[in-house]
Amino acid sequence: MYDVAIIGAGFSGAVCAERFASLGRKVLVVEKRFHVGGNAYDTFHPSGVLIHPYGPHIFHTNSESVISYLSQFTEWRPYQHRVLTSVDGQLVPFPINLRTIENVYGLKLTSDEMKAWIANQAEPILNPINVEQSMHARIGKDLYQRFFKHYTEKQWGRPATELLPTITNRIPLRYSYDDRYFTDRYQLMPLYGYSALFRNMLNRPNISILLNTDWASVKDLKIPKIICTGPIDEYFDYVHGHLPYRSLHFDFIEHPVDFAQPVATVNYPNDYDFTRITEFKHITGQRIPHITVTGVEYPQESGEPFYPVLTKESQRTLEHYQEEAKRIESHVQFVGRLGTFRYYNMDQAVASALQTVDECLNSGW
Ligand code: FAD
Ligand code: UDP
Repeated sequence: MYDVAIIGAGFSGAVCAERFASLGRKVLVVEKRFHVGGNAYDTFHPSGVLIHPYGPHIFHTNSESVISYLSQFTEWRPYQHRVLTSVDGQLVPFPINLRTIENVYGLKLTSDEMKAWIANQAEPILNPINVEQSMHARIGKDLYQRFFKHYTEKQWGRPATELLPTITNRIPLRYSYDDRYFTDRYQLMPLYGYSALFRNMLNRPNISILLNTDWASVKDLKIPKIICTGPIDEYFDYVHGHLPYRSLHFDFIEHPVDFAQPVATVNYPNDYDFTRITEFKHITGQRIPHITVTGVEYPQESGEPFYPVLTKESQRTLEHYQEEAKRIESHVQFVGRLGTFRYYNMDQAVASALQTVDECLNSGW
């Protein structure tokens, strides 16, 4: 009855479902949660404030093709994300920029002076193999200690010496006063929210969606092609052991004021069990007076798999699963953050799902 089964209704699954359905294929989407949207799902808090229950999701990309694809399903609202970090009792801009150096060290530098100052701090480590070495090489010990070490170890639950450099290399260093978190060409939020975007992608006759359904309970259905956007290790019944994922717990707090903090996100690297507090109204642009909601993020070792933990060991385990995946690639493809065990942003998840569908079609799916 169905041509393609899709496990998971986050960005990766939704893109694959929409693409196959648009080509006339009959698609079954199986989602174990009670809603579509994956971790990008948004909903209204009892106070009426639109929140992101799985953590703040800010859309940013340099990809024309991703923007033009998603623009079929949503209008947009421009939004530039800004983050402050609580360091030594003050809130300073993050990623580190000229103003951060001025606030923390009392140094008012030009761009060239900051380059020279950072070069002087940086350690001569040629091929850094972990977060600690790589940050020592990029910014030196003192900035690393103040801004990265404790946040990273809290977030990932491991010493920074066990984590691969790519985790923190995604955070830039700015030799300017640019205090935006991202510098991508497109920084936009879906005008009516992510859940509305997903509804527009998935509401079509060729797509059936089973919510509250784990793939395990329907996998005996005879569907010739499968796209898995759930965890790759789970798909193979953990034959090569568990891949490590990091989870989060959120406390959502209502405040009887228009705004509770000056920017959308404040990071707390050094002082508490939580990593950051985000105020959603800044991000969504929702206008609702005298009430606001913040989300406080507590990293957890167990719970929903949110972040693939990138270590040398997890990469070795992943290779075993990639070999398993190769054996069945003619009828099963793995896509997305959990399916490929990659630290993808939303635009990367969309781009890679679009590419996978093209490749599937080229190989006769
Ligand atoms: P997911 O969204 O995780 O979707 C996978 C789906 O599969 C889930 O709905 C899950 O329930 C379902 N599933 C899993 N196993 C099964 C099963 N056995 N049976 C049925 N269904 C199953 N990206 C950005 O670009 N900007 C941001 O600001 C940003 N912030 C983030 C903040 C946090 C806290 C987190 C965790 C991620 C953030 N991301 C952000 C990344 C973004 O969430 C991912 O890129 C995106 O969600 C990936 O989509 P996906 O479909 O691959 O995975
Ligand atoms: N990070 C940090 N200090 C910060 C912010 C980030 O050490 O104030 C590190 C941390 O290891 C984090 C990584 O940089 O996991 C990536 O940060 P990002 O804000 O991109 O995390 P995400 O939004 O994906 O949770």
